[in-house]
Amino acid sequence: MVNATVTANAGELVSPLVDRPRRVTILGATGSIGTSTLAVIGERPQDYDVEVVTAFGNAERLARVARECKAKVAVIADRTAFNALRDALVGSGIEAAAGSAAIDEAAARPVDIVVAGIVGAAGLAPTLSAIRAGSTVALANKECLVCAGDLFIGEARRGGVTVLPVDSEHNAVFQALQGHPIEDVDKVILTASGGPFRDWTREAMAGARPEEAVKHPNWSMGPKISVDSATLMNKGLEVIEAHHLFGLPSEQLDVLIHPQSIVHGIVNYRDGCVIAEMSTPDMRMPIAHCLAWPARSKVAGPKLDLARVGKLTFERPDVDRFPSLKLARTALEAGGWATNILNAANEVAVAAYLAGTIGFLQIARVVEETVERAAVQGFGHAPATIKDALALDKEGRRIAAGLLGRKEAV
Ligand code: NAD
Ligand code: MG
Repeated sequence: MVNATVTANAGELVSPLVDRPRRVTILGATGSIGTSTLAVIGERPQDYDVEVVTAFGNAERLARVARECKAKVAVIADRTAFNALRDALVGSGIEAAAGSAAIDEAAARPVDIVVAGIVGAAGLAPTLSAIRAGSTVALANKECLVCAGDLFIGEARRGGVTVLPVDSEHNAVFQALQGHPIEDVDKVILTASGGPFRDWTREAMAGARPEEAVKHPNWSMGPKISVDSATLMNKGLEVIEAHHLFGLPSEQLDVLIHPQSIVHGIVNYRDGCVIAEMSTPDMRMPIAHCLAWPARSKVAGPKLDLARVGKLTFERPDVDRFPSLKLARTALEAGGWATNILNAANEVAVAAYLAGTIGFLQIARVVEETVERAAVQGFGHAPATIKDALALDKEGRRIAAGLLGRKEAV
């Protein structure tokens, strides 16, 4: 068994694609992951019945998405958008609801698989709600594991719930681990493209504008994760995510810069054999894999032509130029409280950067100082409940926002 959580039901889960459509809920249906999920479903609509779609505040877009995929329920987090959503759904037979509690409730509706595609800590409660309802979760929202990994994995284990990684690197590792006990693993390696500033000096990065940071060389993603890819914090968060998903300690989790983004995840086995997963960089691939699992997806993905790619290169990350990677690893080693605070501070700092309030290099400084301050306050334990996780998150945001208030200090 690879990991109790991710493969708990591997033998039992009969692929519903064989005899009936798979029922799917999409949390964050208007985002980048949501859009890719809908594209996969749109390729083979006969294989899927969409139960719920949710979004933050864009009622018109959510209604359009809900109509297109023939969802049964559409839920908008922002209550003030309820009337707009209801009006836009008139005549469709699709139920409308609003508010975060309504999202948590909708996430618990019985389905085969819930795609957790909300960005940030806002995804915690609905994703946990899906796990508690016993649905298989296709997890894109890495913040769930970074903010409260022990809690999520603990709940999933207790409930015998399968958590499938959507994040491309973890999905790749998950595939490369199939059929092998985790004890045989020497190292798991996550690849990173290196982001748009891979070759930039620190001096050049100091002046990097948000529109340059979100221009990812290989992947098309939401703005927050794009900035995280530019700082390499995304890879740091992914190391923490991998720790929880695969039950491996920090020293067995490595990162390699691989600018072509063809090899997504690598497993080095103790006997020296290496299994890696390769595909064209396109989030529809891991999403399709999760939606069809344990069967292979019938959706035809983009074919990988290695002769055309020509060259695959790998190098070690430069943690001096990209300190966020080091900060994330230090937080992982410090424990669940620290990864939670790290994430909160990063969300605040990235938002400030996108808003033009701070410079690119200040993102890591805000994160580092926030975690240091929280350590002094003595949050020495991992959050045991969602309430704890959200309270820690709030504290992290408070400290980070305080630092931004006097940004000359960071
Ligand atoms: P995005 O910003 O494009 O979309 C986020 C979705 O969440 C939207 O539907 C939005 O309406 C909804 N949302 C935002 N705030 C909300 C709130 N407070 N309450 C309820 N809903 C809210 O983000 P994305 O790029 O799709 O990323 C989603 C998650 O997937 C993130 O955790 C990210 O790290 C992870 N992920 C994304 C990619 C990618 O390629 N985009 C790859 C791997 C992992
Ligand atoms: Mg990733």
